[in-house]
Amino acid sequence: YFISFEGGDGVGKSTQARLLGQWLGELTGREVVLTREPGGTALGKELRAAVLHGQDMGARTEALIYAADRAHHVESLVRPALARGAVVVTDRYLDSSVAYQAGGRELGADEVELISRWAVQDLMPDVTVLLDLDPAEASRRIRREHDRLERAGADFHRRTRAAFLARASADPDRWLVLDATASIDDLQAQIRVDVVARLAL
Ligand code: C5P
Repeated sequence: YFISFEGGDGVGKSTQARLLGQWLGELTGREVVLTREPGGTALGKELRAAVLHGQDMGARTEALIYAADRAHHVESLVRPALARGAVVVTDRYLDSSVAYQAGGRELGADEVELISRWAVQDLMPDVTVLLDLDPAEASRRIRREHDRLERAGADFHRRTRAAFLARASADPDRWLVLDATASIDDLQAQIRVDVVARLAL
């Protein structure tokens, strides 16, 4: 099984992905591979540093670096793990590119999706969990937890959220949309119920 978590910054994706992964390992007895984008591999960490902390770059350059990170991640880590029967849980996947590079940075959604799908040779998650949260609330959480400044404006985050929600409603068979205002435990409980039902575990 291949499961992705999506949503804006500060919604709790990494915590929820980790909790779900641990639990799915116990439930299924399978190996669980918990990973992330950008930066799920050694090369990916270099690409992550370049795109998040490197020199200024244009939106197309940025989109191609995310796609390169993803291509390497899928080729070297995700596909081999799935081939040996592991459950793979990733904190972000290609929907983040469509939401951020198209929705946020205003490239064409179709072209961003095309380069992303080319990068992964069309490997799509069995289920994608969207943790939906008002960006204002998410940025309060980020300040509280990491004291990290918002890098982009409020409009950028609103467009990104809208892009995630639009993608989810266009493909309800793949997406689960959950309200991320719930407590960590309540949200995790809901995710478990919904994922188990969706994957018929
Ligand atoms: O989720 P994580 O903290 O790893 O994401 C790192 C940063 O990269 C976030 O600020 C996110 O907004 C950004 N990002 C992006 N486009 C992607 C993936 C992540 O702008 N495709």
